Amino acid sequence: MQGTVVVTGGSRGIGAAVVRALAARGVRTCFTYSTHREAADVVAAQAADLGTEAVPVQADVSVEGEVRRLFTQAQQLGPITGLVNNAGITGRQSAFVDLEVERVRRVLDVNVVGAFLCAREAVRRMAATGGGTIVNVSSRAAVLGGAGEYVDYAASKAAVDAMTVGLAREVAAHGIRVAGVRPGLIRTDIHASAGEPERVERLKGTVPMGRGGEADEVAEAVVWLLSDAASYVTGTTLDVSGGR
Ligand code: NAP
Repeated sequence: MQGTVVVTGGSRGIGAAVVRALAARGVRTCFTYSTHREAADVVAAQAADLGTEAVPVQADVSVEGEVRRLFTQAQQLGPITGLVNNAGITGRQSAFVDLEVERVRRVLDVNVVGAFLCAREAVRRMAATGGGTIVNVSSRAAVLGGAGEYVDYAASKAAVDAMTVGLAREVAAHGIRVAGVRPGLIRTDIHASAGEPERVERLKGTVPMGRGGEADEVAEAVVWLLSDAASYVTGTTLDVSGGR
């Protein structure tokens, strides 16, 4: 993998693991954070310890001007050959009947509009430079539905899955692959943000493999999809969920 890979939401959780996994393979990244500047600095330092540049950029992926600025900055590091659409939010766990419209709009804005904006900016550049790979971080919730917790989040990830299929078919002739991963229950801060820090512990018995997953285990799948080893893989999404 040559060039620069843009990773959204690289300051914590799965995105941070992707930045580190790419750095370990000598792949330069430009990654976003939303508000956690100190966490982003730690990830950049971890990549530097691995001998690879990882540049943090503050950007809200749902804001078009900020996404344009992100890609302008990323391209200054070198041609953009990869995008990992990872930034995502769930909102607080909620029954469907209690969902507030502002929260639903925010979830769709970050998870769907944000992924679309980043993919569009990436495709514009990759098409001009001979190709690249986009990996969308979806969720098993897209299939399971998020009942009683966040049906809006599940629906946002189903939208991302549809984008993976459609965009892959649209840009294949430009040498651009588009694929996705659907993580299951992964140990990150996202569950605390949703209001239940121990969610993985509560639900791990529903996982055939009997445990939650680690961010590094998702990152390895993302890195494979980005790599030339996956050169004939496009328009598909890989479950990384211990069988759940
Ligand atoms: P996390 O630990 O909560 O980290 C979220 C990351 O996204 C942080 O780097 C955060 O930046 C960034 N971010 C949030 N909103 C943003 C915005 N509007 N613009 C730019 N960046 C933003 O989450 P995670 O568990 O690693 O999840 C990463 C992805 O995996 C998400 O798409 C999530 O839906 C998906 N996923 C996670 C699980 C799981 O069990 N953990 C399961 C399935 C799918 P700050 O650090 O600045 O806040």
